[in-house]
Amino acid sequence: IISKRLETVASYVNKGAKIADIGSDHAYLPVYLVSQGIADYAIAGEVNKGPLQAAENQVKKYGYEEQIKTKLGNGLAVLEGEVIDTVTIAGMGGPLIADILEGGKEHLTYIERLILQPNIAADRIRAWLIENNWQLIDEEILKEDGHIYEVLVAEPGDPLFLYGKNEVEKKVWLGPKLSSEKNNAFLEKWTKEHEQLEKIKVKLSEASAPNIESKQSDIEKKITWLKEELS
Ligand code: SAM
Repeated sequence: IISKRLETVASYVNKGAKIADIGSDHAYLPVYLVSQGIADYAIAGEVNKGPLQAAENQVKKYGYEEQIKTKLGNGLAVLEGEVIDTVTIAGMGGPLIADILEGGKEHLTYIERLILQPNIAADRIRAWLIENNWQLIDEEILKEDGHIYEVLVAEPGDPLFLYGKNEVEKKVWLGPKLSSEKNNAFLEKWTKEHEQLEKIKVKLSEASAPNIESKQSDIEKKITWLKEELS
């Protein structure tokens, strides 16, 4: 049994996929995907030895040494010499996930699907996907154990397909599909964010700092967006 968060990531992996799970830690996701007959082959990639050891132990425990290869390496470097069609990166901040994608772009040439699960700042990933011609094909927001997570799914294609022509910047921030669906997790997350921004706005009005006007106008812009979305 895995978390609802990882189960949601797994639900976007196509049957028969060959996946690389980057930052796999305990390899829970690859083990789940193989045990359910979803993935044929998986790499559990880790940059740190402790988590890599945890992944090795987990793979051995289930006897999946044939199907799951654990590899030490930074980001997408573990794809070198492998035949992989799907990349998953879960449980990290959006900026780190975007850095991993940017740093290993050359390994993404043959990748058919990216499934990315940022804990924060999903907008950084949406922006990266647009800049690099990945089409966001689906996204989800969910709550588990008091935390709110987003899952983004992308394939090579028309990067603005899901965004349309208007309000692209706002949709990058909120999620084009998430903001049209507005489920409970979405409303909870952005209601809190709105409250935070109102507090920061008050603090900024009392402060004097370099660039304060650009900070104020950025916050003002976001508050306006949230008022539109949450009304
Ligand atoms: N993916 C698992 C999940 O969603 O439950 C584990 C998430 S854990 C919080 C993040 C893992 O990413 C850590 O084990 C860390 O060592 C690994 N990590 C961080 N930066 C990495 C990088 N550049 N390349 C590979 N792994 C990385």
